[in-house]
Amino acid sequence: MTPTVRFAPSPTGYLHLGNARTALINYLFARRNGGRFILRLDDTDRERSTAAFADAILEDLAWLGIEPDAVVRQSDRFGRYDQVAEDLRRSGALYDCYETAEELDYRRKRLRARGLPPVYDRAALALTNDDRARLKAEGRSPHWRFLLPDAVAGSAKGTTGADDASVVSWTDLVRGPTSVDLRSLSDPVLVRADGSYLYTLPSVIDDIDLGITHVIRGEDHVTNTAVQIALFQALGGPVPSFGHHNLLVLADGSAMSKRTGTLSLRSLRAEGYEPMAVASLAVLVGTSEAVEAVASLDDLAGRVDLAHISRAPARFDPSDIAGTNAELVHAMDYEAARPRLDTLDADLGPAFWEAIRANLTVVADAEAWRDVVRGPLAKPAGDAQDAAFLAAARDLLPPEPWDAASFRAWTQAVSAATGKRGKALFHPLRVAMTGREDGPELAKLMPLIGFEEMSARLS
Ligand code: GLU
Repeated sequence: MTPTVRFAPSPTGYLHLGNARTALINYLFARRNGGRFILRLDDTDRERSTAAFADAILEDLAWLGIEPDAVVRQSDRFGRYDQVAEDLRRSGALYDCYETAEELDYRRKRLRARGLPPVYDRAALALTNDDRARLKAEGRSPHWRFLLPDAVAGSAKGTTGADDASVVSWTDLVRGPTSVDLRSLSDPVLVRADGSYLYTLPSVIDDIDLGITHVIRGEDHVTNTAVQIALFQALGGPVPSFGHHNLLVLADGSAMSKRTGTLSLRSLRAEGYEPMAVASLAVLVGTSEAVEAVASLDDLAGRVDLAHISRAPARFDPSDIAGTNAELVHAMDYEAARPRLDTLDADLGPAFWEAIRANLTVVADAEAWRDVVRGPLAKPAGDAQDAAFLAAARDLLPPEPWDAASFRAWTQAVSAATGKRGKALFHPLRVAMTGREDGPELAKLMPLIGFEEMSARLS
C-alpha cells in the first residue's frame, strides 16, 4: 500500500511556523517513503473558514516547496458524513442527547466538587421515546454523542480500575507505546444540535476514504487519537499508524496561534526569509539533529526520522531565523540569487553578488549594497586631514580596467605616499568609498564602483 499522509489545516487563518512543522514532517515522510501527501482543508466550520485562507494555505505551502498530490475540502463531503452518521445512529453508536450547555456545565461542576472526573454520565442513554418527544416539544434539538466502546457491564463512566476493553493502545511513531483510558473521557459530541460536524468524525471518514496510512500530527491530538481509533473500529476502516510530534513553542513556552498571526509564513516571507531557512528551523528544532540551514527539502528529508523527534516541547527562538537565513544566503550561488536580485532591481552581476553575499542576512539586503555601489553617496563630514589624505589617494587611483588585484596595488601606493598603514589607511578609505564603517571587501567593491564614482567619493 502506498504510504499516504495528510496535512489537515482549517482555513481559518494563515499558517504559522508550527503548522509548517506538521506539514513538512508529513511531506518529508511521504518523500522519504515514496508516498503521497494530501492537503485536506478542514473547513467544516463555515463561519470561520474562508476561501481566501484556503488559497493562502496552498500558496504558503508552495512557497515552502510543498506541492500536494491531491487537495480535498471537507465542505465538499457533507453528504458522505451524513450517510456515515446515519449508519452510526442506526447501530446505536451515535446517540441523541438533549442537555443544554448550561446543564452540562452544572453537572461537570458538581462532579468536580465531589472530586470526580467531569465525564458525561450517559444519562441520555436512558431516555425513552416519550422523553424524547417531550424534550423536542420543549424546543430542544439533539446533539449526538459517540458511545465510546468502554461500556462493560457494571462499569460507570469516570471510574478507574483495570479494564482492558476501555484502554486504547497504539505504538506511536514518535512517542512509542501509548495508551489512553477511554473511561477518563466523555463520549464525544460528533454532531452539534444544529446538525454541523465537529472535527472528529469527518476526519476519520476522510482518513478511511483517502486511504491514509499514517496520521502524523501535533501531540495536542493524542487524546483525539484514542477516540478516533475507536471510531475507525466502529466504522470498520483500517486503523492507520499514528505519530504525534512535539509542538513548537516560543521561548516563554507559549504556543503559536493561527488567530494571533504569530510567526505566520506570510510575515516570514515578507521579511525576506528563505523558505529553506524557515523549513530547516520548523523541522529540526526539537529533534536530535543539529539545527542548521539545510539547502533542500530532499536533504532535509534525509535527516529527520520520526523517531528522532524529541518528547519535550520544541523551543523556538525567533531570533534564530536571521542567523539560519544568513547561512543560506552566504552559501547561495549567483544563479540561485539572480531571479531574486532581478526582482529587487539589484542584479549587478556575479562579481557584485560574490562581493556582498557574506554581508547579507536576507537577499533583500542587496538593495542597500546596490545603492552603495551605484552611488551617489551622501558625503560623510571628514576633517581636513582626512580630506588631504583622500585627495592623495584619489590622485593615485590607477587607470581602469580594474580587477580584484587593483585595490592592493593602489593602497600600497597610497601607503607609500602618505605613510599610513593598517586601520589608519583602510578605515578612511572604507568610509569614503561606502559611507559605512564595515561591509564587503573593498578590493571587490572597487572595480564595481568604478573610476568616476571612486574619484568623486575621494574628492
Ligand atoms: N484540522 C485539525 C487541526 O488543524 C487536523 C488535525 C489532524 O491532523 O487530524 O488541528
